[in-house]
Amino acid sequence: TEFQAFCTNNQKLNPEAIFALESIEKPDEFTDAVASNLQIKLKDKQDILNTFSVPERMEKLILILVRETEILELDNEINRKVKENIEQNQKEYFLREQMKIIQEELGDKDGIGLEIKEYKERLRKAGAPDDVVEKCEQELERMQKMPYGNPEANVIRNYVGWICDLPWSASTEDRLDLSEAKKILDRDHYGLEKIKERILEYLAVKKMTGTLSGPILCLVGPPGVGKTSIARSIAESLGKNYVRISLGGVRDEAEIRGHRKTYIGAMPGRIINAMKQAKSNNPLMLFDEIDKMSSDFHGDPASAMLEVLDGEQNSKFRDHYLEVDFDLSKVLFIATANTLETVPRPLLDRMEVVELSGYTAEEKFHICKRHLLPKQLKKHGLNNKMLKVSDSAIRAVIDNYTKEAGVRSLERKMGNICRKAALKLLENEEKPEQLKVTTKNLEDFLGKRIFSTEMVSKKNEIGVVTGLAWTQVGGDTLSVEVNVMKGSGKLELTGQLGDVMQESAKAAISYIRSNAKKLGINEMFYKDMDIHIHVPEGATPKDGPSAGITIATALASALSGRRVNHEVAMTGEITLRGRVLPIGG
Ligand code: ADP
Repeated sequence: TEFQAFCTNNQKLNPEAIFALESIEKPDEFTDAVASNLQIKLKDKQDILNTFSVPERMEKLILILVRETEILELDNEINRKVKENIEQNQKEYFLREQMKIIQEELGDKDGIGLEIKEYKERLRKAGAPDDVVEKCEQELERMQKMPYGNPEANVIRNYVGWICDLPWSASTEDRLDLSEAKKILDRDHYGLEKIKERILEYLAVKKMTGTLSGPILCLVGPPGVGKTSIARSIAESLGKNYVRISLGGVRDEAEIRGHRKTYIGAMPGRIINAMKQAKSNNPLMLFDEIDKMSSDFHGDPASAMLEVLDGEQNSKFRDHYLEVDFDLSKVLFIATANTLETVPRPLLDRMEVVELSGYTAEEKFHICKRHLLPKQLKKHGLNNKMLKVSDSAIRAVIDNYTKEAGVRSLERKMGNICRKAALKLLENEEKPEQLKVTTKNLEDFLGKRIFSTEMVSKKNEIGVVTGLAWTQVGGDTLSVEVNVMKGSGKLELTGQLGDVMQESAKAAISYIRSNAKKLGINEMFYKDMDIHIHVPEGATPKDGPSAGITIATALASALSGRRVNHEVAMTGEITLRGRVLPIGG
């Protein structure tokens, strides 16, 4: 029986051989004959031959037959399935071809024809210019002629989809009401008068001429002074849609301008992407961190940006992916940057720079009280009845917990307070009481204070002068200290003085030497005195040379023994002839 089962599954055995085998009557002969006809390993065959006892030999053969039958069955099953699949595919292909012909006969009411019709409808709605519509129609025609399942059809679908989604003619109505715009600007932001004024001027011009003109605004200032958030308010006050493109880390022109659609997975660049998001052709587009753009061998993104920002060219902006012109001339561009040093010159020439300097402690206080705290309260599900932060506590946070030009970490600290307060309020749920944050319990909310402001000396001293410095976090004061002692004319500079500051110090010394008599200083000081100049760390100004006048004054004071008024702070570069140069910025 096993042999028969094996035979039914194995089509390779020829029927005559089977018949011959079946006619053998002696068990041992039958076993040997069958075994010799099997396509099995030589070792197994040998094993059967070696087995002398007939029943044992038959048993072995049966085991092998069962195994082989199983393998054959599996094999047949797979073959069957493969065949079925192929037949199915052929059937589908056949049916589809038939359907195509039927559709052609019927005048194509369904399938791809319908899809193309939908696309054409969408194109019409999008209001694209004629040449764009024409190009899309060409592509769609190409798609229609393609055999079913051609991957390129998807590329075309994608492409036409993009074209349909762009706001070719959709636009929003600008709000030209000056007083309304001013109200919105004032509502969201404290101070920032210069930039608000600039926006109103822009509006006025637009109202007079009916056209959008003037260079692109570039808001420059340290982080957290509200560049991004004022741009959003501007959009709102003008009634424009708002889109933001972050340019930080963009190194490749294709990121701005897209990849050609012949590349797999090609996409339009960020500009076109943003236009799709904007849903109107006259939005406010913010280029955030334009100073963080860099270039490498992939091409310079700045050159693409040049074209975008150029009023003469941007009505015909060409994205590599779209391959058709897109009109950007109705877009209001605003850029932001932390510093102008790294903004490419030609770009800078096209922009009008508005500087937002850091805030003073007083400004920060008002911003915090009016905007940041209410915003954070709302964000944490609180209101000003549940949590009160006293004015002096706000001032203490500004002075002792933050050190920055903007108000970002101040906003974060307010967030911290709100979080802690929410927890405290929930912990004693039975009697919901009002929480008060004052200078006394501020440390419960924010931990030990981080900064102290006692940098400046409190009395007039000899050889100690207060300087003004521009640092990463805005402005700061620093005290320059000079000691002179009997010695052999050595000059020592300590603290974190860069090369430029060392040169300032040398210039100061040489000025004092040449004017020693006038200043009432022993002319031989450079021979029999050692001078030590120290600028405390932590207050290293970014602009080295401007410490010149401070160092010179401290030197003169130390050498002449006259005190310096500690309430006067100074800054400026000093020349060899004792001229103090104008302060930049
Ligand atoms: P930037 O873009 O300059 O780094 P952001 O716009 O991100 O700064 O501002 C940080 C936060 O500070 C925002 O929540 C913003 O609303 C707030 N802010 C900054 N300046 C002001 C201001 N003058 N009035 C109100 N809020 C401000």
